[in-house]
Amino acid sequence: MEKRNLTCIVCPMGCALTVELEEGKVLSVSGNTCPRGEKYAQEECTHPTRVLTSTIRVADGVLPVVPVKTAAPIPKELLFEAMAALRELTVPAPVAIGDVICPDLCGTGIALLATSSVEKKEPDA
Ligand code: SF4
Repeated sequence: MEKRNLTCIVCPMGCALTVELEEGKVLSVSGNTCPRGEKYAQEECTHPTRVLTSTIRVADGVLPVVPVKTAAPIPKELLFEAMAALRELTVPAPVAIGDVICPDLCGTGIALLATSSVEKKEPDA
């Protein structure tokens, strides 16, 4: 039997979780203060996911970049691929908060959204 120690990241309490696994299957979770911790431990040990937050370049904006995040968590193993894809992206200004930058990030079916706005730069007079 394998044991894994995790810190629950669902809320700021940060409970210390102990997970017992056998052949990739979760046998038990302890240390959680609420049921969300057990769900987190189950998912983290079998199918870990994360919300990706980053920035992408903006063309002709008053700021050079806009912050973005995925609309939902994506598989953790796709984070590097997704970050590489973001480095290739440039969106034209203006960008509004909530704009869909990419409807299907790396084939996950999950959208990438702008989390702030960037106005278009006025042309030099
Ligand atoms: S187990 Fe519950 S109380 Fe503890 S950190 Fe996770 S969500 Fe918060």
